[in-house]
Amino acid sequence: MISVMKNTSIARKIEHLKQQLAKLGPIHPGSLSEQYNVCGKPDCRCKDPKNPQKHGPYYHLSFTWRGKSRTLFVRAERLAEMREKLANYKHFRELTDEWVDLVVELEQQERERNR
Ligand SMILES: [Zn+2]
Repeated sequence: MISVMKNTSIARKIEHLKQQLAKLGPIHPGSLSEQYNVCGKPDCRCKDPKNPQKHGPYYHLSFTWRGKSRTLFVRAERLAEMREKLANYKHFRELTDEWVDLVVELEQQERERNR
């Protein structure tokens, strides 16, 4: 009886995860890094001997997917949008990991019950 109740609660948790997944906005894997550069112009502020002011920040998105690593330049005006996609992706992974945790637990319970 207890295991049946547990099953129901696992099924309910899975349903809840599915609903949360359906509500997720745009996603993208990876992480952002900030870079400051020195340019080629000899008299530029970035080469000032006393107070060098490098150019930037420039933002790069790095990610590895299906064995392939990539780094993409992200424009400043698209930074907020990209940060949101990365946060959504993190949430997406948490939700799917949790889902897999639950199905593994469910399978285990079913095997114990049918022993
Ligand atoms: Zn410069």
